[in-house]
Amino acid sequence: QQFMLQNADSLNGGQSLEHQARADLALEKEISRAMAQREFELHYQPIITLEGGWTVGFEALLRWRHPTRGLVYPDGFIGVAERTGQIVDIGQWVLKEALDALKSFQLLVGNAGAGPRPPLTALAEVRDSLTSEPRRDALFMSVNISGRQLFELQEIDRLGDTIKASGIDPALIKLEVTESLLVDDPAHARVALQLLREYGVRIALDDFGTGYSSLSYLHEFPLDALKIDQTFVATMGRDPKSYRIVRAIVGLARDMGMETIAEGIERNTQLSALREVGCDSGQGYLMSRPASFREARRLLQMRQARW
Ligand code: C2E
Ligand code: MG
Ligand code: MG
Ligand code: MG
Repeated sequence: QQFMLQNADSLNGGQSLEHQARADLALEKEISRAMAQREFELHYQPIITLEGGWTVGFEALLRWRHPTRGLVYPDGFIGVAERTGQIVDIGQWVLKEALDALKSFQLLVGNAGAGPRPPLTALAEVRDSLTSEPRRDALFMSVNISGRQLFELQEIDRLGDTIKASGIDPALIKLEVTESLLVDDPAHARVALQLLREYGVRIALDDFGTGYSSLSYLHEFPLDALKIDQTFVATMGRDPKSYRIVRAIVGLARDMGMETIAEGIERNTQLSALREVGCDSGQGYLMSRPASFREARRLLQMRQARW
């Protein structure tokens, strides 16, 4: 849409691109200042199992606490941060901050230590299978990663160092990438994702179904989870066609050993439709909006991890 608007404007004298470039430059400077002044913060949206209603994880979402403009959402600055490359340093900060938060959440719900979990004994496995309650310490954190952060292998190593230094079981860290990463440079994406996977983290494909990738991408890349985009979720409660699409996506994902997570659940009809098709978990305003660190801790305590 933005592309079309720019094109239309440039037919009227090319003012728009120049104007855009100047606005981008101003924003770039502001972003640098914001990093130095620590104006960025993360909000955390609970991810909930659709069957049991347990909070099993959170997605970390970036916010900018701007001194005059108030709380600025990613749409207002991520694009520029990606074009300028500033997202690389912001993203390193995001990962570290999100992992610190996860440690705190895990301690809150009863994880005795923040270090990697010892392997389960056979006995513990039996005990775990007898309770309907998921292990309380198994809370995960999902972190959005821009393609730009994976351009350089050195940056991937830096992400890996942060993961290792956190002491968190890397299986509880989900990195969310979008289809554009896979489409723009599939060969590089395969290497980048494989390198990340070697650190033990899980990879989720974000906004699935909105990009230009084909279904064949699903088995060409090392993916652990599919996030069903909110555009499908929004219509599946009333439109039989999108209901069938989501059902097919969930079935396909399951066949390929991938987990499914729905985003943007706002209504009960959507929640029950997603349950019907067997989607594993979801997030949305129906359950909770993204919450500040303190609010997220309170939510965890109040609900005892159950929605
Ligand atoms: P996303 O990763 O697809 O995140 C989900 C978006 O849906 C979030 O928007 C979230 O607030 C919103 N959402 C959640 N539940 C509902 C709902 O029930 N209804 C509606 N209408 N929306 C819902 P947000 O926080 O504005 O983030 C937008 C996008 O910005 C994200 O989309 C992600 O692509 C990007 N982003 C956010 N944080 C980061 C970050 O730390 N790094 C990078 N690279 N990108 C980020
Ligand atoms: Mg995401
Ligand atoms: Mg998403
Ligand atoms: Mg989305």
